[in-house]
Amino acid sequence: MAIADASPVKTTCPYCGVGCGVLAKADAGGVVEVRGDPDHPANFGRLCSKGSALAETTGLDGRLLYPEIDGRRAPWDEALDLVAGRFSETVRIHGPDSVALYVSGQLLTEDYYVANKLMKGFIGSANIDTNSRLCMASSVAGHRRAFGADTVPGTYADLEQADLIVLVGSNLAWCHPVLYQRIAAAREKRPDMRVVVIDPRRTMTADSADLHLPVRADGDVALFAGLLAYLADQGALDAAYIERHTTGFDAALAAARAFGRMEIANRTGIRPADLDRFYRLFAQTPKVVTVYSQGVNQSAAGTDKVNAIINCHLATGRIGKPGAGPFSVTGQPNAMGGREVGGMANMLAAHMELGNPLHRERVQRFWKAPAIADKPGLKAVDLFRAVADGRVKALWIMATNPVDSMPDADQVRAALADCPFVVVSDVLAATDTGHYADVRLPAAAWGEKDGTVTNSERRISRQRPFLPLPGEARPDWWIVAEVARRMGFRSAFSYAGPAAIFAEHAALSAYDNNGARDFDIGAHAAIGTAEYDALTPFQWPAPAARETKTAQQAKAPGDIRFFAGGGFFTPDRKARFIAIAAQAETWPQDASALILNTGRVRDHWHTMTRTGKSPRLSQHLAEPFVEIHPHDAARHGIGDADIVRVATPRGAILVRALVTRRQAPGSIFVPIHWTDQFASNARVGVLVAPATDPHSGQPALKHSRATVTRFPAQ
Ligand code: SF4
Repeated sequence: MAIADASPVKTTCPYCGVGCGVLAKADAGGVVEVRGDPDHPANFGRLCSKGSALAETTGLDGRLLYPEIDGRRAPWDEALDLVAGRFSETVRIHGPDSVALYVSGQLLTEDYYVANKLMKGFIGSANIDTNSRLCMASSVAGHRRAFGADTVPGTYADLEQADLIVLVGSNLAWCHPVLYQRIAAAREKRPDMRVVVIDPRRTMTADSADLHLPVRADGDVALFAGLLAYLADQGALDAAYIERHTTGFDAALAAARAFGRMEIANRTGIRPADLDRFYRLFAQTPKVVTVYSQGVNQSAAGTDKVNAIINCHLATGRIGKPGAGPFSVTGQPNAMGGREVGGMANMLAAHMELGNPLHRERVQRFWKAPAIADKPGLKAVDLFRAVADGRVKALWIMATNPVDSMPDADQVRAALADCPFVVVSDVLAATDTGHYADVRLPAAAWGEKDGTVTNSERRISRQRPFLPLPGEARPDWWIVAEVARRMGFRSAFSYAGPAAIFAEHAALSAYDNNGARDFDIGAHAAIGTAEYDALTPFQWPAPAARETKTAQQAKAPGDIRFFAGGGFFTPDRKARFIAIAAQAETWPQDASALILNTGRVRDHWHTMTRTGKSPRLSQHLAEPFVEIHPHDAARHGIGDADIVRVATPRGAILVRALVTRRQAPGSIFVPIHWTDQFASNARVGVLVAPATDPHSGQPALKHSRATVTRFPAQ
């Protein structure tokens, strides 16, 4: 029996961080229809191939419909009691840091909030991290270094108003297609608009650019250091903005100049004439937006790359103005919502800091919590290391598949196999991670869930149900709250529904800070159940911010950008330039080794647990592959469509060769999606070393050393 037979519900696409509005309905027979919501300000009715195929992915094939303990069906009460009991016992014997949660950017904000509250306020450990660590942690760290808080200054409309868009490490055409479509539509109306793509690969996005700069892997810091020096040399700085609203410019410029022209040319691999063309374009175009995503974030220098970009925008005062600003685009549908409620190991809810005792006191007081984590928890890669070496003895994984998606994936698999107690709550019965669970808990899927998500431009939208919960599936927030109540925290986790959770989150956001900080992001006003049910997409800061105490902090209705007039979230309210020194080159010493880059394809999502259900989506690229330049293919005796063994010191996979000049010589590309469920020996995660950015902890998923050989060898 479907919930809505006639009129569609307004909900939000569960894939990428564009956060498109979807109209969805199911008929009495459960047949689902979806189309773009013409009223949603992210997409105005558009959907990409993945969003359009959502109806093909809502079937119950492969669903986990009942709780399971050691593979046998169990009642909810028994499963919840077991999880609560084992977590409580582990904490009692080994301490709060012996347990951990690993969650997901697929969770709704309400799910994230409750999980974060349980770990940080009631168990008393910050060992909760998220697969968003793999997606945008470097942008978070870069924002916090420069702005004092994790705040995206601009909006999608800025991309349409800009005269120059710089896309860095971002294949928007495939990975954020509706945003790309909005840019394409704007370019048709404004032919003078320019697009520069900075990417080692000639992607579909690069095809449509006015200028493609095929930067060497991790050459971005040098590229933007060169730009900062150029802006200074050409007198293209905004001296008044630098003086009034920033600190640290001189040191940042000195560090940028230290690279030198030759060093920049070597590190970027870009012809000086093309670099000059880009630098000139940037210097001469006041309305410029620089968009960056995984090619910037997924690097051992990811945070430095983010700050190298932000430095150039601060130096020109091009931030928070219509058509101007640095713009991080998130990969996942609710990476931003998770950040807002502190769903990472180094954050507290409502943009507060774990390292600040006043913030900790404020959150603990609001939650009436028995404890509060007093130090950052383990970030994703370290968290699984701690599982492997026995420091973490009970782990709960929600809505993600780390056995396939984490770097050093075979070590993650081995760690789960040895972990004394593993809980997996998921939609599907047979993910590669679920195989290692002692307890499997059936979670509600998209179309059944009820809550909110936040997209890349800080826009909060509702996900609404239009299908009944199948079997005994339950929402993630409910599962976490039930476990918390059985651990003895009854009153703090007695929620009537997601509206009550969002209201609590909003209240914490606006809670009396009692001197905890001299500013308040104040993201949300109080909200009742009826308002929550009727909620239309809005960007924070929402009304609560307009009620903050000083005129400078107040945001007028429609004033949806940050920082044009300063007002950063640092103690002196000034942005910080970051002086970024050149790091040692990490290119392969072995002449036969190639740089392995990993990433997404157009029609699949993560480990294909949802898109793999759609025959239409599988037609685009039907099998796992390695893209390789013709020169490298010839050097290694590889022909187009051959089977290739790609190997690193961590492991090896077998994939089809796709010989193409889209790939730069000396590098290869393998998509992240295929797992053992869809192809044998194609999990790219087994190849990737667990190297991370020192500031963000984000893994360097785009820079491993690999060798290729034709298989079978001849
Ligand atoms: Fe969904 Fe992203 Fe496509 Fe929009 S662009 S329909 S949010 S996958």
